[in-house]
Amino acid sequence: MDYEVIVVGAGVGGIYQIKRLVDLGISATVLEGGADLGGTWYWNRYPGARFDSESYTYGYSFSRELLDEWHWKERFSGQPENLRYLNHVAEKFDLRRHMQFNCRVESAHYDQAANLWRLKISDGRTLSARFVVLTIGLLSIPTPPRLQGMEDFKGRSFHTFHWPQEKVEMAGKKVAVIGTGATGIQVIGEIADKVGELTVFQRRPNWSAPLGNGPIGEAEMADIRRRYDEIFTTCARTPGGFEHEPDRRGFYEVSREERVKLWDSLYGKPGFAIWLRNFREIFTNEEANAEFSEYIANRIRQRVKDPKVAEKLIPRDHGFGVQRVPMETNYFEAYNRPNVHLVDISETPIVRVTPKGLRTSERDYEFDIIVYATGFDAISGAYDHIDIQGEGGVKLSERWNDGPATFLGMMVHGFPNLLMPSGPQSGSASTNYPRGIETGVNWCTDLLQYMRSHGLSRADATAEAEARWTEHVVQMYSIMLMRKAKSWFTGYNSNVPGHEHGRVRYMVYNGGAPKYVQRINDVAAKDYEGIRFAA
Ligand SMILES: Cc1cc2nc3c(=O)[nH]c(=O)nc-3n(C[C@H](O)[C@H](O)[C@H](O)COP(=O)(O)OP(=O)(O)OC[C@H]3O[C@@H](n4cnc5c(N)ncnc54)[C@H](O)[C@@H]3O)c2cc1C
Repeated sequence: MDYEVIVVGAGVGGIYQIKRLVDLGISATVLEGGADLGGTWYWNRYPGARFDSESYTYGYSFSRELLDEWHWKERFSGQPENLRYLNHVAEKFDLRRHMQFNCRVESAHYDQAANLWRLKISDGRTLSARFVVLTIGLLSIPTPPRLQGMEDFKGRSFHTFHWPQEKVEMAGKKVAVIGTGATGIQVIGEIADKVGELTVFQRRPNWSAPLGNGPIGEAEMADIRRRYDEIFTTCARTPGGFEHEPDRRGFYEVSREERVKLWDSLYGKPGFAIWLRNFREIFTNEEANAEFSEYIANRIRQRVKDPKVAEKLIPRDHGFGVQRVPMETNYFEAYNRPNVHLVDISETPIVRVTPKGLRTSERDYEFDIIVYATGFDAISGAYDHIDIQGEGGVKLSERWNDGPATFLGMMVHGFPNLLMPSGPQSGSASTNYPRGIETGVNWCTDLLQYMRSHGLSRADATAEAEARWTEHVVQMYSIMLMRKAKSWFTGYNSNVPGHEHGRVRYMVYNGGAPKYVQRINDVAAKDYEGIRFAA
């Protein structure tokens, strides 16, 4: 056996996981497909890439020393600084020497006789370990559109995930952005005044609201440091793992004037306040959601000068907040600029990429640069991209053909000793990720310690426990409007075969962070009820 534990992926999750394992003296390594650590913040270098979590609620909470020495310079820190932060963490705790880069895990097969996992790596090696911990990310497999002629384009083109490391010269250039999801909204707001011409190709608009970024000075950072305990306690108490707490008054208990007063105050507040400090009915009640969505629609109408463009930017197929809300900076104002054009590809679809640009059903466009802001094979994509085979050669991708089924979002029946601290159906994907990731990594590490201290070498979730958890996850969807959305919460992605609209996949845990933590702690307190162990 090469290692006791192999951790796959060196993002926020893998960095913390290896720290916990090294501290316990467990023989472990991290295998990362990329050329360096950082995960999301290593890959996504597009202009405008930044947090929508308040920076100081995103950073790790496990080390007082780290909290005390790091200065978050912006309320919503940008990609370069976030990557510096993760490098600082790795260096501070000397974790880099436990990581191997350019090592993509191609397959992971469970060898039942030896009770070992055997991993094939892209560099040709095969490594074995008793445990595999997958911290492979929920937004780590980009999905380019499926357009004819993409390789014919003579200019530069890239998916935002693969934005080049060196500076891309954009001044005076004709640029196309395809996609108006969270990434498109960030890029468009950032580059509109820096390019020659910007043409945005939009299929379905998204609801979006101001991010409210700003600098954090020395004095404010000192105050944040003093309040860290309080901040993390609040994050642990709120459903989303943020500082934002829902307004607990009933939507219909207060007058329309009171509701609008609350919304007026939230629209100017930073971050997800407008989403998560709102009335809870926004998430569950069609009429309440429609009333609030109309409020936001009017905000868009106020900000976009051309009424025809404004109407195109207002979503009709879903209400505000039933998908993760992209936060924006100058996004709507970008469309007031003479150099920015909006093409509605639900009316005039893109037919193909041409050597010079794009052809829609209406006309040809010429571009120097095409940016594919078309998102990710979210949540289960990274799992589907590894040939994972459990007991009896059962393939995980086949087991999950109709959507994931898990125990606590962290284990799968028939795949012993395979752990997913922030897997599908765990508490991470619907919350402030690092808060969920720390919870998941701690739980998995505690499980490993429990097994060590009890002389156990094999852990498998029972079929019954998995079915119970998955049923609970499904039940949590039943009250949420998001079950109807075409989003990664329901597993929708028109660019991934099998993930087209029509079949709901139960991808995330919607019960909120406190309930999730309570459930997983209960399992641990009952000697890991639902897991079958063997010596
Ligand atoms: C642009 C953007 C902005 C975001 N902003 C926020 C935010 O403000 N707040 C928030 O909570 N979340 C945000 N997220 C979500 C973000 O993904 C998480 O916050 C967090 O970074 C996830 O960390 P992770 O370690 O789980 O996964 P990742 O950071 O995705 O890291 C996974 C790593 O695993 C590697 N990997 C995958 N498959 C393999 C394989 N087969 N072999 C080897 N290596 C593999 C990948 O290369 C990657 O480096 C954002 C995501 C994006 C894309």
